[in-house]
Amino acid sequence: MVDIKKVTKLLSEVVDPSRVSDKDFDLIPYSRDLSPAKQKLPSHVVIPETREEIQGIIRIANDEDVPVYVRGGGTSHWDAYLAQEPGIMLDMSKMNKIMEINERDLVATVQPNCTWAKLDRELRKHGLTYLCSEAGGPAMTVGGSIMKAGSGPHSTAKFGFHGNQDVVTLEMVLPNGDVVQTGSAAWPSAGKFERQCLGPDLAGMFIGAEGILGICTELSIRIRPTTDIQERLMATMPTLDSVIEFGHFINRHVGDEYLQGIYLWVDPTAPEVFTLMMDIFGYEEEIVNHRREKLIAKVKELGGELGDRAPADDYFGHILTGLTDLFVTGVWHFFGAGTLRIDDIKFMYDVWKTELIEKRGYTKAGFGGQILPRRWLAFMVTNYREPEEWEELVKMAHGIDEIILDGPVVPYGIGGRDGLRDIVASRDTGYYRLLKTLKKTLDPKNILQRGIFIPEEELL
Ligand SMILES: Cc1cc2nc3c(=O)[nH]c(=O)nc-3n(C[C@H](O)[C@H](O)[C@H](O)COP(=O)(O)OP(=O)(O)OC[C@H]3O[C@@H](n4cnc5c(N)ncnc54)[C@H](O)[C@@H]3O)c2cc1C
Repeated sequence: MVDIKKVTKLLSEVVDPSRVSDKDFDLIPYSRDLSPAKQKLPSHVVIPETREEIQGIIRIANDEDVPVYVRGGGTSHWDAYLAQEPGIMLDMSKMNKIMEINERDLVATVQPNCTWAKLDRELRKHGLTYLCSEAGGPAMTVGGSIMKAGSGPHSTAKFGFHGNQDVVTLEMVLPNGDVVQTGSAAWPSAGKFERQCLGPDLAGMFIGAEGILGICTELSIRIRPTTDIQERLMATMPTLDSVIEFGHFINRHVGDEYLQGIYLWVDPTAPEVFTLMMDIFGYEEEIVNHRREKLIAKVKELGGELGDRAPADDYFGHILTGLTDLFVTGVWHFFGAGTLRIDDIKFMYDVWKTELIEKRGYTKAGFGGQILPRRWLAFMVTNYREPEEWEELVKMAHGIDEIILDGPVVPYGIGGRDGLRDIVASRDTGYYRLLKTLKKTLDPKNILQRGIFIPEEELL
């Protein structure tokens, strides 16, 4: 049991007391995320401002055996930061500064809770931009995206997902309070300019780990000149095979940095209509036009039709402002999700159509995904309104996850999701065993993100 008052007193010695609370009134807003996860109340909320404060908090957490949970922008929707048991919620919102925009090396250094929207505004003043983006709206942060290796609508064959090409260096506070710099920053007299330098690529160990191995306190990412010349297309394809062929065409012919996004959507009301939205950005008008013409010609060759681009404007246009319409019909739930080869999208579509719509009669979930374009990040997504719908929906989603993950799909967004964590644990792969060994070694008391990604009992 956490000695709440004692921990509050200790925390108030390392962080200004105005940024520490154990009052229900302050804790409740941190008890929910955007998923159907049950309400989970932390015991404390702390708003650190510096790396040293985080080190102090970690020390107290270890001494008092209180878990620590890290909340970035809070836009993830798979129970990835909620307090799985009463513990300290770190609200990182005050660590949001842009530290440096290095126009010569094309590197931006930021504190983890700098939002993509804020960075975008600043970079644009310099004629610069970043490499890839997700669709999580104005609150999503650079640190949150990279700690869970997000990938989104504006990812390209060249740049891929967050953490793939864009990370230069990370500064991490480990669960024992040590600070580690990765990449060229590991060599103190060098600077922040390269990810892979001295020895193994330690940044890779933290990217996608959902915060279980360390707390990010600063990071530098690659930036590049803006590609403001833009074309947007919307097409409907006659079959999933034609979508797959289109994906391979992009992979082979036009999938460089010019094709920023390609997004598939299939609505449950019309499961045989395959809608594709595409964003083409580039540096030279001629090349953008050339790409556009090639894409149009291929759509037509494969029997597709070009349509009104308004829905694509709505989708791509709201990446940094928020896809609020998604929430109009209720809370968003995203399941049966993962990464897979281009050809294997057929498997996932069949599960969606046969298992979900036809066998289970659930006709509210759409099916979609982003071709990055070398692979898909695909998912099923639904909305619900009434709390009673929860249990039913979550049970059904578990069933679908089981089927999907028995196939050629790598799970995405593990967090504290019951079901998904257990499926990953039950596979007992060498990868998973190594992850557990790393976790036990770095965090013997399982202080950081206890219960996230790896169920607690797996670490006993
Ligand atoms: C409408 C909508 C659309 C979305 N579209 C996409 C999409 O296209 N692609 C996609 O991948 N996701 C998408 N998301 C999910 C979400 O926006 C992204 O995953 C985003 O990257 C999360 O960033 P965040 O700052 O909100 O992080 P959070 O949700 O706060 O945290 C994400 C994870 O990182 C950990 N974390 C956060 N900060 C730190 C830190 N400093 N140190 C260590 N760990 C930390 C958290 O504990 C948690 O496990 C979408 C969400 C919404 C609401």
